[in-house]
Amino acid sequence: MKNSSTVAAVSTPVAAGGIGVIRISGSEAIDIAAKVFRPGGKKNINEMKGYTAAHGTVYDGDKAIDEAVLLVFRAPHSYTGEDVAEISCHGGVYVVGRVLRAILNAGAQPAAPGEFTKRAFLNGKLDLTKAEAVMSLISAQGEQSAGAAMSALEGALSSKILAAAQTLITDSAYLAAWVDYPDDEIEEISTEKLLADYTEVLSQLENLLSNYDAGRAVTQGVDTVIAGKPNVGKSTLMNYLAGFKRSIVTDIAGTTRDVVEDTVRLGNVVLHLADTAGIRETGNEVEKIGVDFAVGRVERASLVLAVFDLSREFDDEDKAVIELCKNKCAVAIINKDDLDPKFDKTQLDCFRHQVIISAKDGTGADKLAHAVEEALGTDSIDTSAALLANERQRQCCEKAAECLREAIEALRMNITLDAVTVSTEGAITELLTMTGEKANEAVVNEVFSRFCVGK
Ligand code: GDP
Repeated sequence: MKNSSTVAAVSTPVAAGGIGVIRISGSEAIDIAAKVFRPGGKKNINEMKGYTAAHGTVYDGDKAIDEAVLLVFRAPHSYTGEDVAEISCHGGVYVVGRVLRAILNAGAQPAAPGEFTKRAFLNGKLDLTKAEAVMSLISAQGEQSAGAAMSALEGALSSKILAAAQTLITDSAYLAAWVDYPDDEIEEISTEKLLADYTEVLSQLENLLSNYDAGRAVTQGVDTVIAGKPNVGKSTLMNYLAGFKRSIVTDIAGTTRDVVEDTVRLGNVVLHLADTAGIRETGNEVEKIGVDFAVGRVERASLVLAVFDLSREFDDEDKAVIELCKNKCAVAIINKDDLDPKFDKTQLDCFRHQVIISAKDGTGADKLAHAVEEALGTDSIDTSAALLANERQRQCCEKAAECLREAIEALRMNITLDAVTVSTEGAITELLTMTGEKANEAVVNEVFSRFCVGK
């Protein structure tokens, strides 16, 4: 899987900016830099040590393009583990593109998405979970998600997974020796010890799996729908959460016809919010389209904020909203706490999470944040602990747990030890696929294809 070509790409955003960085990596990186970059003094680029810089001019052939700074990193002490040259030139779409073209003209190949990080992985600089953390860190939208990505980059997940795999590998080695060489005097590993080890590793994996959804809610945000009959205050709530007016708020029922979207932070979670048309039977065609759409949105959402009006009697439209929230992660919001209560709150007993607020006066936001955190399970999430970051990791973890359950079952039923070995090996393979040690090329390519060019 190793790459021998030298590649280059722009590593900063392609937009007007103070500086733009073009990274070159591979065995020819310094030679290629020497072809396009002429240092100001008498410096010889090929003799520059790692972690040193030179000031000079970038040329394409004989044509000067920009004044720039060259940074040199020598293998293996670089991000990719290869020789790396980075040219920091003036930011700006044209100049940066022009410098890249000069570098490609001098013999570098264009880097594929994520290629620098992929090379770092192939050169053993980081494992697959850490490489994925690099991507999470780049796309992090807030302190919580950046903190979780940073913990993963520092190895919170990979050290846990490798420790689990190591326990299984040690047990498995004993088992294999014992099964393969029954006549030798190999100390027999007791069923109790195996059971204890497997149960411990299984419980760690189950713990990771049970935190997956809440972890994703913190790091990626949650698709959320604000639902309720017309005029309960959905748009007002949306505006309150968003901090400014977005949807049209009027007293006429049914004025929010389509879906208005926004991303807001509530407690420790980011909500990708949609304020939908009021859910009710309607004869108006235009409004009907909005209503049908709203029902679809509620069905697909990961979290429903179901809004009810404290100042009006409970009715069949509220009942329809409750019906829609069945089997969903939902928080009942009883709005208009500033008005005289007419609503029968006992009708909402089916909601485990409820809050009373006034969206208009802006009261109850803390209670709402707490209810949302409880409903999503994020109230107990520690972003500095090991968290599964994506579906690939979750699936590896799930399959490893399944193999361990089989191994435990086999041990309890006194099935031959080679059957136990097969299941244990399956679990080890899944764990090492997660860290990348045993991941096949297709998996590795899939992981890096989601990166941006230049990282
Ligand atoms: P939607 O149809 O559910 O989106 O409801 P709107 O957000 O458009 O609100 C309908 C009406 O209720 C508007 O006149 C709002 O000002 C009013 N309203 C919303 N929230 C509150 C509240 O907490 N207290 C009071 N008194 N009025 C509210």
